[in-house]
Amino acid sequence: MPTPRIISDVKKNRQTGTHIQVDFGLNEPEYYQATCYTHGHYCNADTLRSIRIIATDPLGWCEGCQHQFYAAGGSF
Ligand SMILES: [Zn+2]
Repeated sequence: MPTPRIISDVKKNRQTGTHIQVDFGLNEPEYYQATCYTHGHYCNADTLRSIRIIATDPLGWCEGCQHQFYAAGGSF
């Protein structure tokens, strides 16, 4: 089984201002994962290509980011 590893360090997302990290296998073995460190939610994908796209769009999967977005009136 592949070892869990960090793929990209926590980066500030341009869209939401939250901090997103990409890793492999951290919470779900053998899946890539994007984590919103600001809210603690994460999303999994089975390819690196997919997770890189997902990581740039936390509004698509992080409830905390979505809540923040709509609370701000739908824009940042
Ligand atoms: Zn978030």
